[in-house]
Amino acid sequence: MKYQRVLLKLSGEALMGSRAYGIDPQQIVSYSKQIKEIVDMGCEVAVVIGGGNIYRGIAGAANGMDRVQGDYMGMLATIINGMALQQGLEDVGMEPRLQTAIEMEQIAEPYVRRRAIRHLEKKRVVIFSGGLGNPYFTTDSAAVLRAIEIEADVILKGTRVDGIYTADPEKDSSAEKFSNITFKDVYQKGLKVMDMTAFTLSEENELPIIVFDMNTEGNLKKIISGEDIGTLVSK
Ligand code: UDP
Repeated sequence: MKYQRVLLKLSGEALMGSRAYGIDPQQIVSYSKQIKEIVDMGCEVAVVIGGGNIYRGIAGAANGMDRVQGDYMGMLATIINGMALQQGLEDVGMEPRLQTAIEMEQIAEPYVRRRAIRHLEKKRVVIFSGGLGNPYFTTDSAAVLRAIEIEADVILKGTRVDGIYTADPEKDSSAEKFSNITFKDVYQKGLKVMDMTAFTLSEENELPIIVFDMNTEGNLKKIISGEDIGTLVSK
């Protein structure tokens, strides 16, 4: 096993599957099974989940919503997704724990770092929802900060594309994939991996990021086993 403790970042959009909005239950099942596979190998897994399938503060602001209000709505969206994933993981026989960055004690634990680490040591998947609990941030920033806090070995950014390309492969058929790239090259080539706040935080803390296709079942296991799929961003 190449990685002992990982932070898996799943975007809200990834949960939509082929839908235009919301949560595709099949997607939850697929992700839950893949997560179980690596936990069964002995890997400690924390998940940060996005909310873009339901609400994004910046999109709301473009339509006249107050930005801060919209961002809180986005954070609540990530908690809805976290609850869906929690259920999915339970349905495949796991004992996940959901933590929120905004207190909601009737439905989840508050984020407590030591408690999260204890869960991980007991091989419980911890889902961090609610982002960082602050407006003007994204769940990518939450993923990086939580990964640093729990001392994860790597951030696994699951997307529907199988890595970082020279251009958007969904738009440009001549785009080529990088298997490895440095943080510096990402800046210099103007590539987009995460938003700048998140990316810089990752670089400063020398936390590697692997971008990979989470929609192909088995990929997560391949990464944990040390296979070179996706794109590794490192120092
Ligand atoms: N958000 C926020 N602070 C955070 C995390 C998220 O305000 O720490 C809000 C923000 O409005 C964001 C929305 O929640 O647009 C959903 O998160 P994100 O866009 O990161 O989700 P993803 O793109 O991963 O689906």
